[in-house]
Amino acid sequence: MPKYFEWTVGCQMNKADSEELANILEARGYERTLSLEAADLIFLNSCSVRQNAENRIIGKLGEMVNVKRKRPDARLILTGCMVGDDTVAALPKRFPFVDLFLKPADVEGFQDFLDEGDALEVAAKPRSMGVSSFVNVIRGCDKFCTYCIVPYRRGAEKSRPVQEIVAEVRELVAQGTTEVNLLGQTVDSYGKDFPGGRPDLADVFEAIHDIDGLKRIRFMTSYPADITPRIIQSIADLPKVCEHVHVPCQAGDDEVLRAMHRTYTSGYYRDLIARIRDTVPEVSISTDVIVGFPGETDDQFRNTYRMLEDLRLDTVHVACYSVRPGTEAARTMADDVMPEVKKARLKEIEALQERVLSEINEGLMGREVEVLVEDDASKVNRTGAPQWRGRTRQNKLMYFPTAGRDLRGEEVKVRVERVTPWALQGALMA
Ligand code: SF4
Repeated sequence: MPKYFEWTVGCQMNKADSEELANILEARGYERTLSLEAADLIFLNSCSVRQNAENRIIGKLGEMVNVKRKRPDARLILTGCMVGDDTVAALPKRFPFVDLFLKPADVEGFQDFLDEGDALEVAAKPRSMGVSSFVNVIRGCDKFCTYCIVPYRRGAEKSRPVQEIVAEVRELVAQGTTEVNLLGQTVDSYGKDFPGGRPDLADVFEAIHDIDGLKRIRFMTSYPADITPRIIQSIADLPKVCEHVHVPCQAGDDEVLRAMHRTYTSGYYRDLIARIRDTVPEVSISTDVIVGFPGETDDQFRNTYRMLEDLRLDTVHVACYSVRPGTEAARTMADDVMPEVKKARLKEIEALQERVLSEINEGLMGREVEVLVEDDASKVNRTGAPQWRGRTRQNKLMYFPTAGRDLRGEEVKVRVERVTPWALQGALMA
């Protein structure tokens, strides 16, 4: 049986793409291996959002030189955001030992490459999926935020037909998935490239909602100006759609937002959060923030801090700005906020968020919450203590002691008995 090795860095979109490539390989009879030397086919899925991520891939490609020396017959594929229209011509000169440079999500190109090279008589075999699976519904991005490389690498927004998504979800559920995460860089833009802008994301929710065996639907990432009242209402109306919205604000200062080319104001963002909270009871909201964007003054940072303090969101992923070659910010703006200032701002937001989350989670003490059990946490965190790990509908991590039988994929009621800012601990209800 041929073997494949997979190495992925980056966001959920990359993970979903890798999952799709792995599924194709497994359907062709390939078996995953953790040994590079044992692999007949190797694919590396790259990320270019930060220079660090790209450096990691370049390091991994360095290892490949030796692997190819020992196994010249092993086929090597580089995919992900490093492979874009602007790079694809130069990459073969730089990495001549790579057999295929595959643009993100170019499934057809992948199949063609396999068809050409596979003289292998392989039998399709059933896949075994996890409890929760990613499904790309829209690829690419039209927004061109000034700090971001994604639109250059992943191209324009392109929605997948609803029937294709429904078929994929059905298949995933048949293989054991009970929760799907619908993915897009700007997931609420789904359908804007169809005539009349429909079907939209709310239609996708409806189309997959009644699939037997599917228990939960999640979606990410929302762009603040694109999430419509119809989508918000459908989160409230459709029981399987979880009450969690990931909607990055990136900053809470209007001048910084303009410089980032985010197409909304802080006032709009504040109103949006209020509207979501008014429409969807018990909703949790997470966001992304960049500190130290070129030219960000102390006062402008304060505006971001105050907005987060006022909104009291459930999760804030905060990152220091770093220059991404190829972006508008890299070309036209000086990276002029000192590293120690960036770090201090990051730490301030992290401390704020720790306090806010402690208070929010304290409010859950003693409550019964619904948890979708994902896996046996003792295997993952090596604490040795047998316990299950799952997520609440609001996407909070929950741990609770195992109760003998296998609960993976089940929705159970758990009473919250202990909280930290980052996770809940509970007891299974009878
Ligand atoms: S919305 Fe902005 S940050 Fe998000 S992928 Fe598109 S360009 Fe990048």
